[in-house]
Amino acid sequence: MGNGIFGFSRGSENSTEDLKDKSLVVIKSRCPQNHPCPSVQVCPVGALTQKGYGAPSVDKDKCIKCGKCVKFCPMRALVLQ
Ligand code: SF4
Repeated sequence: MGNGIFGFSRGSENSTEDLKDKSLVVIKSRCPQNHPCPSVQVCPVGALTQKGYGAPSVDKDKCIKCGKCVKFCPMRALVLQ
């Protein structure tokens, strides 16, 4: 009787990063700025724009932090942090 054991396993679900708390940062020093940015094409919401061959800019109001551009950029110039 009175067996009040609850099966909480706290702290075991934290391995998945919560990207919603992060924001997309463009690290311009990693971008060679000499080509059309491929990540602009993969953004599902059009949050990335590029002027000329410069490093892309992110519209933080549009960005849903999906991380697609982060995975796509071979220079790792786009970071969710
Ligand atoms: S994280 Fe996703 S939504 Fe945000 S700029 Fe990159 S591709 Fe677009």
